Amino acid sequence: MATKKTTWTALDILNTTTEYFTRNNFEQPRLNAERLLSHVLDLDRVNLYLQFERILTAGEVGFYRDLVKRRSQHEPLQYIIGKTEFMGLPFEVNREVLIPRPETEILVETTLALKDQLHHNDVHIWDIGAGSGCIAISMAHHWPDCQILATDKSGSALEIAQNNARLNQVNNIVFEKHDVLTDPLHWDYNIDIIVSNPPYISENEYSELGREIIEFEPRLALTDHKDGLEFYRRILTLIDELNGCKFILLEMSGTQTDKISSLVKSYGYNETEIINDLNQIPRVLKISL
Ligand code: GLN
Repeated sequence: MATKKTTWTALDILNTTTEYFTRNNFEQPRLNAERLLSHVLDLDRVNLYLQFERILTAGEVGFYRDLVKRRSQHEPLQYIIGKTEFMGLPFEVNREVLIPRPETEILVETTLALKDQLHHNDVHIWDIGAGSGCIAISMAHHWPDCQILATDKSGSALEIAQNNARLNQVNNIVFEKHDVLTDPLHWDYNIDIIVSNPPYISENEYSELGREIIEFEPRLALTDHKDGLEFYRRILTLIDELNGCKFILLEMSGTQTDKISSLVKSYGYNETEIINDLNQIPRVLKISL
């Protein structure tokens, strides 16, 4: 946007920015330009369209340019705007938490489908590695009479998750700082369901990820710095300590499905189901205990 133009309408600046993103090979150049401008002008998409002829103030142009610059350095749109959607609900995000992914909705939907199988009215669900809280909060919203324990080793992630719980007005979640790999379990109630989207990228796979992920998303939310299976192993050993746990639902990357399945069998659990995502990638592992 190295142009000397001094007066910009919304439409002019959108066109110029779309061309700029296109030249720099960004996917969905128009959408990116629109989302950023919607954020600057605090308008939803429809109202942005209705105000194409609006003349922007110098302040708005300056703010927009800063955001376009951040995007051009590959910062994800969700971090720039500071929010995203998951399961139809709003979530605040920043670089302390993983950006919720659409495929994780399958994990939530599979867990919600257990509602009819658990008849007592005091169901406890443990979300391990809650991050932004997207899993715990959407579960809490869609299953209001269950009790959720949401843990994460990152205190700053938990702060965001708690903000998101307030934003979505759910109050059936207890948040706790807890490192599942090292900290003992000390809860005095039975957990019925474990759900987790653990850091499942192996050290080798991690280096192959795109710039947007490597440079901006929290490393601890993505990889175990080992073979990508640490968290599955740990969760499988925990079962012995959890009286009465009935289901475990884990997200997977799709690259290590066979290894994870054999691992689960080696622990003696044979009742498993794998659910594919919309791209036919094996995405959720459901273990019935
Ligand atoms: N539970 C969060 C999510 O699914 C965070 C997961 C993580 O940090 N690995 O987005």
